[in-house]
Amino acid sequence: MNIFLYVIIFITGTVFGSFYTLAVYRIPKNIDIVKKHSYCPNCNHKLGFFELIPVWSYIFLGGKCKHCKQKIRIRYLLLELLGGISFVVLALALKIDAFHLNTSTLILYGFVILYLTAIILISGIDKEYRKIDKRVLAYGIIISIIYMIYLYTIDSTSIYRYAIYLAVYIILLSVDTFVLRKYATDSYIMDILMLLNMILIVSEAQIFIMTVVMALLAILIYILLRKTLQKNVGNKKIKFQEIPIGFYIGASNIIVLFMMTFITNYCI
Ligand SMILES: [Zn+2]
Repeated sequence: MNIFLYVIIFITGTVFGSFYTLAVYRIPKNIDIVKKHSYCPNCNHKLGFFELIPVWSYIFLGGKCKHCKQKIRIRYLLLELLGGISFVVLALALKIDAFHLNTSTLILYGFVILYLTAIILISGIDKEYRKIDKRVLAYGIIISIIYMIYLYTIDSTSIYRYAIYLAVYIILLSVDTFVLRKYATDSYIMDILMLLNMILIVSEAQIFIMTVVMALLAILIYILLRKTLQKNVGNKKIKFQEIPIGFYIGASNIIVLFMMTFITNYCI
């Protein structure tokens, strides 16, 4: 029975993985992510039902478009598999068991997936286009506020902490709406601060600190590597504006979150 549950979780994960790949591609281009039918980017052939099934369709089609035989990038298959594996790993980390399903663990699992959806889309879009998508950020902020309300219903003692988080959001959103929109051309740093507040609410303080340290280290290593390459090749100068900070923060948060969930559920 447990195997059956985990197979379903894996398949759901591949569907989400497929959706994330599509959303990272479509959202910045303002293409509808729900209504518009999936198509081959080469010949515009609309994908049929069997061509839409993640992983399986790739194997079934031999990695080619049915219509024009254009090769489908292996990256799609890998991202779908990664989605499936991540969902299973997360369920294992939370010790989800078909025989002892408990509501609070399932609610937590659901929240983590909704939250990870925001983090994955924000970091994916930032990596590709070096910008934080406002719509995805707004979705993430709403998820984090709902999560805060949920936490409050379980444990109402930490109301002051939630009040501070909310105040930070209100301050950042006000600065963004009333000051930056008028005087600045770019609100990237403000978006990053909102992303950090979102991470702080959903992860715990410890995970938040580890996320920030890991992201800073990754950025530092990236800068050092680029500098060494520059010396050797004489490449064009690296600018701070080019670094997708949101991507490094998001990716670090996912790694730390998975790691810490495993450690707290299995080692402590
Ligand atoms: Zn095609």
